[in-house]
Amino acid sequence: IRWTEGRGWHDAQLVPYAPLSIDPANMTLHYAQAIFEGLKAYRQPDGSVATFRPDENARRFQDSARRLAMPELPVETFVEACDALVKQDKAWVPGSGEQSLYLRPFMFATEVGLGVRPSNEYLFVVIASPAGAYFPGGVKPVSVWLSQEYVRAAPGGTGAAKCAGNYAASLVAQAQAAEHGCDQVVWLDAVERRWIEEMGGMNLYFVYGNRIVTPRLTGTLLPGITRASLLQIAADLGYEVSESRISVDDWKDGNADGSLTEVFACGTAAVITPVGSVKSTTGDWTVGDGQPGEVTMKLRKALLDIQTGAAEDTHGWMHRLG
Ligand code: PMP
Repeated sequence: IRWTEGRGWHDAQLVPYAPLSIDPANMTLHYAQAIFEGLKAYRQPDGSVATFRPDENARRFQDSARRLAMPELPVETFVEACDALVKQDKAWVPGSGEQSLYLRPFMFATEVGLGVRPSNEYLFVVIASPAGAYFPGGVKPVSVWLSQEYVRAAPGGTGAAKCAGNYAASLVAQAQAAEHGCDQVVWLDAVERRWIEEMGGMNLYFVYGNRIVTPRLTGTLLPGITRASLLQIAADLGYEVSESRISVDDWKDGNADGSLTEVFACGTAAVITPVGSVKSTTGDWTVGDGQPGEVTMKLRKALLDIQTGAAEDTHGWMHRLG
C-alpha cells in the first residue's frame, strides 16, 4: 500500500514475493525512515488460522510512525493487510504446535532526494516466513552480556519505537556479547547505566517466588506485546505482578541471597526464553540454578496454549481468519 502527500493511502496490492528496486537517492537509505512490526499466525486445532493480537501491533506501528514523522496507517488497514497475506499463504502456516507463520509488516520512505526532511511518499509492505519452534531441542536458557559501554536508547530518542535505526545501533553490542561467549545483550539505561531495560529483541521479567517484576516502560524500551500479555496471564495465574525499576545490583543481590529465583525474556519470536547466566565487566553470575525455572515454563505454556488454541482464549486475543 502506498502513501503520497495530499492523496493518503492508495493502491493496495497483493503480489508474489519479489525484489523491490530502489533509487540510490531513496531517502530511507540515507536517513532511515523505516519502521516495522513482527507477529505470528498459528494453526488452530480445528485447522483454521489465527493471528495473535494484530491490533496491538497495528497500534504500536502507529506510535512508531508518529515518532519517525511518518503517516499513520489505520489499524483496520494494517490488520486487513496481514489477513490478506495470511489467507493467501495459508498453506504455509505450519500444521502444529509452536510452529507459525511469522509476519513482518514494515514501512519506509520512497521519495528520492538528498535533503533531510520527512519523505512525501511511503510504501507499507507485509512479507511472511514460516517459523519453526524456537527451541526444537527443548527450551534452553540463554547467556547474556550486560552492555555497559553502549546503550540502545536514550531519553527523548527512539527507544520506544520499532524503527530500523535502533537495531542498527545495537549490532556492535551484540557482537561484543558474542565475543564474550554470550547469546544476547542486556541493555541498561543511558543516564545512570544502572537500570535494566531489555534484552536484544525481548523484554525481561524477574521472578521472586510468587512475585513477578518487569522493568517499567520509561520511554526507552519497546512496549512488547508479549510483555503486556504476560502481565495479564501472570495475574490470571495468581502471581503478584508489578512494573518497576530493577538495577544491576538488585539482580546481583537477589541472585546472591536467593530471593530472585528466575529471570526470563519474552517476545514474539521465542515467546519466553529463560536467562541462565550473566556476564559483565563487574562480575559474572548464574541465574538461579541456571536451568529453566518453574514459573518461566508455566507462563510459557500458558501463553503458547492460548496462541496455539490448546487453551481457551479468555481475553479475546486471537484474531481468527477461518
Ligand atoms: N524489545 C525489542 C527491542 C524488540 O525488538 C522486541 C520484538 N518486537 C521486543 C522487545 C518484544 O516485543 P513483542 O513482544 O511485541 O515481540
